[in-house]
Amino acid sequence: MEICYVLDASAFINGFQFTSKRNFTVPEITAEIKDFESRLKFDAIVNEGLLTIQDVPSECLSCVHDIIYESGDILRLSFPDKKLIALAYMLSQQGENIKVITDDYTIQNTLKIMDIPYSGVITEGIKGIYNWKKVCEGCKKEFPEEYPFDDCEICGSKIFKKRIKVSK
Ligand SMILES: [Zn+2]
Repeated sequence: MEICYVLDASAFINGFQFTSKRNFTVPEITAEIKDFESRLKFDAIVNEGLLTIQDVPSECLSCVHDIIYESGDILRLSFPDKKLIALAYMLSQQGENIKVITDDYTIQNTLKIMDIPYSGVITEGIKGIYNWKKVCEGCKKEFPEEYPFDDCEICGSKIFKKRIKVSK
């Protein structure tokens, strides 16, 4: 059976590569995809018919609540997070071969408790391979990660954080 992916907002934001036609998410997650690039990617995938946005019945949500209530994670999960986990639970109960794609540690931890397979987009890459640097939006000057200001000292533009590959 073709694998069925359940996607958290971080899957879009961190550039998950779509390899299956069967991708699902919940309506609440779509509101979390705000930056322009991720939004474009999201819209493109919806337009290509590769993403099913599916709501979950409240029975499913309370079922998940019951399973994870004992773990402290319940307090750290947002409503969209819980909906996403409920969707994953519902699909796996229906016998689907699912995998949740998320870089959110609390969601991953909850899925581990529930015995639902998951995978991160960038989690693997972080170990010694990637690093952050700060780059000015205006003059593109690069600053060390410790640079303490949000504005560029040269041109005053905003500084953003960028992931860089430091080794192969
Ligand atoms: Zn600058």
